[in-house]
Amino acid sequence: MSLTLTVLGTGSPIPSPDRAGSANLVKSSTTMVLVDAGRGVVMRMAAAGVLPPMLDAVLLTHLHSDHISDLNDVVTTHWVMRPEPTTLRVFGPVGTAEMVDGMMAMLAPDVRYRLAHHDDLTTPPVLEVTELAGGDRFAVGDLDITAEPTDHRPVEPTLGYRVTNGAGTIALAGDSIPCDGLDRLCASADIYLQTVVRDDLIRTIPSARLQDILDYHSSTTQAAQTAARNSVKTLVCTHYVPARFPGDDEGWLAPMRAHFDGPIVLADDLTEVVAP
Ligand SMILES: [Zn+2]
Ligand SMILES: [Zn+2]
Repeated sequence: MSLTLTVLGTGSPIPSPDRAGSANLVKSSTTMVLVDAGRGVVMRMAAAGVLPPMLDAVLLTHLHSDHISDLNDVVTTHWVMRPEPTTLRVFGPVGTAEMVDGMMAMLAPDVRYRLAHHDDLTTPPVLEVTELAGGDRFAVGDLDITAEPTDHRPVEPTLGYRVTNGAGTIALAGDSIPCDGLDRLCASADIYLQTVVRDDLIRTIPSARLQDILDYHSSTTQAAQTAARNSVKTLVCTHYVPARFPGDDEGWLAPMRAHFDGPIVLADDLTEVVAP
């Protein structure tokens, strides 16, 4: 039995040539789920040796564009690469069904072209969407998954996912400031994945729109405090705002080390962390 986190994309909405959008893979020896599907997700999956037809489910933390912008690519490739009709399960917060309906409307011409062209393709993509509330618990293969409410207001509702099997526990927080749901999510987790922003850098940038992001994301300091308060083993950081550039690891690590003395991983795209 095993449990591995692959951080597929570590970017934010601000384009970066080296960082794809938010997307993470959680895999055991028998089961594979994708958590979020941001910019470039299918390319990063391919680099990790995983293709969309291999997914058992897609989980969405919230419906911000940087977490869902390439979900359509996952759906299309899952559909056309399977020899037989196969349902793709999608879990997310309330609002996911409306978003998926709109995405399928966007894909309608492509679906028509492919059905008309391929005699052996007989059904359109089949999606099974489940909208979750905080506290909902479900299984995908050998993974026991609990959704917890997070705080990314004014974006509501938002969820984090706690994924457990016999090998360990991974908490995927998504975008959130510290809150009770986040504490439950990562309590004693082997791996706590948190999207982080550098408030010290952002405060120096004279852009009102950038300042707005500070009030609904965890800073590096807050991520480390959450990790320490909940006795997590390893803190993994992603979704850097501003983008982390080479040579500045200390700028990210120093404020975190002041609060958390466990291992801290500054993930780049395709970083793999094994639980426990
Ligand atoms: Zn967000
Ligand atoms: Zn985001």
